[in-house]
Amino acid sequence: MDRIAELADRYPHLAFGNLRFGIECGYGWADIIDTFLATAEVVTAAAGGALQLLQIKEKMGGLRIYYRLADSPQRNWIGIDKAYYLAEARSFHICERCGSRGLLTYNGMLYATLCAEHAAELESKPIFPGASMNIVVGSALVPYDPYVDPFMATRLE
Ligand SMILES: [Zn+2]
Repeated sequence: MDRIAELADRYPHLAFGNLRFGIECGYGWADIIDTFLATAEVVTAAAGGALQLLQIKEKMGGLRIYYRLADSPQRNWIGIDKAYYLAEARSFHICERCGSRGLLTYNGMLYATLCAEHAAELESKPIFPGASMNIVVGSALVPYDPYVDPFMATRLE
């Protein structure tokens, strides 16, 4: 993915200057990343300070977003951290290549979250059980369930 200039225009309170290698994952996760950035933009705009994106990449089959909120009270991180937990959890259920529903797979060398078609292309086999991620609901950590997440509802199986 490489749409940094476009993202910087859309999210003026976020700083993308540290993403030296651009966004290091497939286009299938573009909506997940956009949803996270939109939340981060709103929180940062309201809280003041500046959110610096340090790295956005795939690691061990999941989305990782590293960021730093400068010049802002610690409590303002909470909304951004919540959005990040959700983004990471979603990434384990969405094909990194195409954005359809996916599962965590392993091909003997690499982990990747892929739909059945892309898993077959890469000779990668689903791992059971898949990744079990927690998200923040209210003030509690609860296991993420893609079947109750409206974000997932419209995605092809
Ligand atoms: Zn796919």
